Amino acid sequence: GEALAVSARVAPLGSRLVLLLVEDLTEARRIEAVRRDFVANVSHELKTPVGALSLLSEAVMDASDDPEAVQRFAGRMQIEATRLTSLVQELIDLSRVQNDDPLEDAEPVRVDELVAEAIDRCRHQAGTKQITMAAGGAADLHVWGNRGQLAAALGNLVENAVNYSPARTRVGIAARRVTAPGGDLIELAVTDQGIGISDRDKERIFERFYRVDPARSRATGGTGLGLAIVKHVVASHGGEVTVWSAEGQGSTFTLRLPEAGAARDRAQQHPDLD
Ligand code: ADP
Repeated sequence: GEALAVSARVAPLGSRLVLLLVEDLTEARRIEAVRRDFVANVSHELKTPVGALSLLSEAVMDASDDPEAVQRFAGRMQIEATRLTSLVQELIDLSRVQNDDPLEDAEPVRVDELVAEAIDRCRHQAGTKQITMAAGGAADLHVWGNRGQLAAALGNLVENAVNYSPARTRVGIAARRVTAPGGDLIELAVTDQGIGISDRDKERIFERFYRVDPARSRATGGTGLGLAIVKHVVASHGGEVTVWSAEGQGSTFTLRLPEAGAARDRAQQHPDLD
């Protein structure tokens, strides 16, 4: 009698365990599939410039008696080498933001410095397209976090705004403090008058290597990793990134990040979370 009672008590527990195990396996399988996709994508992305470099070096050897052709091929080799370098750099950046805890060396970061840095990073590209860059509201605002990661996140958004906009348009960066129940937030909105993003693509652009138009992305030196980096940085800082866009009109990417004072106060209230 007792054994029966025990097994009756164990049975529901057992089925819950089995369910948990099944859920765990499904999750493990999903993670494994994502990892396999990622490795396949990286391999493909690396193969393209390496393949081009190999063909171009053969072309250089064949054209050794035609200095003009050699110059032309060498120029294209340089473009492919640059592409390879930026892909490897972005892969390193991505693995860093995925693995490091950014809040280990968190500090108050001046928003006006982040904005100036992001604009500097795109100055050349914006200049050649005669794109006007305008920033406002950043004075006296501070976010709480890892300086390098925050700069990379904002820099990627501004770079995209310039890359996916036609000539003689405007890119704006607006900063402001917003009150929120859990503590003040700093909102950074990057607005462009570019090609825009469809509702369907909006859901996928934050995935690693997802591009709406791969050819266009590659032509501007894109790797398809920029927004994945942004998403990770923002998540690990306890913030969020949202996108508003209308095709043919433009896009606004908005970062919401913990304000330095608010984040510090929270850390003091919960010192063990520091
Ligand atoms: P990429 O290196 O291709 O720019 P991202 O991860 O930064 O990679 O962006 C993913 C894709 O999202 C881009 O290829 C582009 O299609 C789209 N996208 C990103 N930002 C914008 C923008 N401001 N306007 C239009 N499309 C954008």
